[in-house]
Amino acid sequence: MLRNVLLVGLLSLGVPTGTDAKEVRATIIDRDGNRFEVRDLKLEGQKVLFLMRGDERLKLRFREIRKIDFIGGRSEEEMPVRIKLRDGRLLVGTVYVGGGLVGYVRGARLVSFTGHTDLGKFTIPLRDVREVFFYGGVLLRRCPKCGHIFEQKDYKFCPYDGTKLELVEVDTTKIDTVRQEEAKPDTGRR
Ligand SMILES: [Zn+2]
Repeated sequence: MLRNVLLVGLLSLGVPTGTDAKEVRATIIDRDGNRFEVRDLKLEGQKVLFLMRGDERLKLRFREIRKIDFIGGRSEEEMPVRIKLRDGRLLVGTVYVGGGLVGYVRGARLVSFTGHTDLGKFTIPLRDVREVFFYGGVLLRRCPKCGHIFEQKDYKFCPYDGTKLELVEVDTTKIDTVRQEEAKPDTGRR
């Protein structure tokens, strides 16, 4: 009885479902040019980034972002960035990266990305990052010659024509939308 009440309570609170609940995957390139394939990427424990543009503070969800270029110097607390969104918009502003010369005096810590790589837990201060490329979907293998797409991760060559397969990013948010529309043509809510 009590268990049922609790369960209903959780459901009505809106336990994260859908794309927001999915872990974020990204490729991070640091200032030395090292590449990291990161799963479950978060910034200060969240999947959002705050972009300052003048007096405006813009909240951007990771899943809206395609790419971030950190274009400032390493010692800046407010690092200039260029952000490309999935809808094609390009935003320029700054993000707070913490630290900095003034920051150390004040005891400010460095704001960092966290996540996991194949080697284990991963942390990188924002100011050490040069580029972040967010995957909006899953990586599949595609044959550049015949266009076939393969979900099998161990395929390296096209079984039809032997061409070396290339990795492509397939947007699962779009796939999910299509599936939901097919499954429930009219639920009356969006
Ligand atoms: Zn092929």
